Amino acid sequence: MHLKSLSLRGFKSFATPTTLALEPGIICVVGPNGSGKSNIVDALAWVMGEQGAKTLRGANMADVIFAGTPGRPALGRAEVRLSIDNSSGDLPIDYTEVTISRTLFRQGGSEYAINGTPVRLLDVQELLSDTGMGRSMHVIVGQGQLDQVLRADALERRAFIEEAAGVLKHRRRKERALRKLETLAEKLERLEDVTREIG
Ligand code: ATP
Repeated sequence: MHLKSLSLRGFKSFATPTTLALEPGIICVVGPNGSGKSNIVDALAWVMGEQGAKTLRGANMADVIFAGTPGRPALGRAEVRLSIDNSSGDLPIDYTEVTISRTLFRQGGSEYAINGTPVRLLDVQELLSDTGMGRSMHVIVGQGQLDQVLRADALERRAFIEEAAGVLKHRRRKERALRKLETLAEKLERLEDVTREIG
C-alpha cells in the first residue's frame, strides 16, 4: 500500500488547485521559508481526520481555508483528496485504489467521502486504523515532536507504543461501547420506573 497522490484546493496557501504525485520511495519537498511545505503535511493529516486546529497550526479549523492575499480573494471552502494504492489489500475495502476526501465550508459544515461516497469521520478512522495511518498514529512527526518522545516519561512512552501497536483502535471501540451501555442502562432505569408506575 502506498500514497499515490494528494490534491489540495483552497487548503491554506494552496488557492490554486494542486495535485502532487507521490511515487514510491523517499520524497523530499524543498522550497523557501513560508512557501507551503508544512501545509502539505498539514493537508495529509487533515484528510486523514485530524481534529485539532492547533496540530494544524491554526486557532480554529476554518484557518485551513485559503484566507486570501492582497491579490486574491479568500475562498469559501477547503478540499483535500488523498489517493491510496490499495492493490496490496491492506485497507479493508474492495478497491485497488481508494480516495479519501475531506471538505470544510467557511459557512460551517464539513464532509468526508471514500471513493466519492459520503461517509462519517468514524468510517475514515476505521478504514485507516489497521494500517497505522491516521489521526494520533504518529506517522507524522512534526518539528519539535522528537523532543517530546525523548523527554516522555514511562506512561507517555507506553501511550506512544500502544498507539503504534494498534491498541488505540480497540480502546476507541471500547469507549464507544461503554457510552452505548451507559445510555442503555439509563433507558432501562426509565423503563423500570414506567413498569413500576403501571404495575
Ligand atoms: P518553513 O520552511 O519556514 O517551515 P514552509 O514552507 O513549511 O516554511 P508553511 O508553514 O507550510 O511554509 O506555509 C506558511 C505559509 O502558508 C504562510 O505564508 C502563510 O501565510 C500561508 N498560509 C497558512 N494558512 C493560510 C491560509 N488559510 N490562507 C492563506 N495562506 C495561508
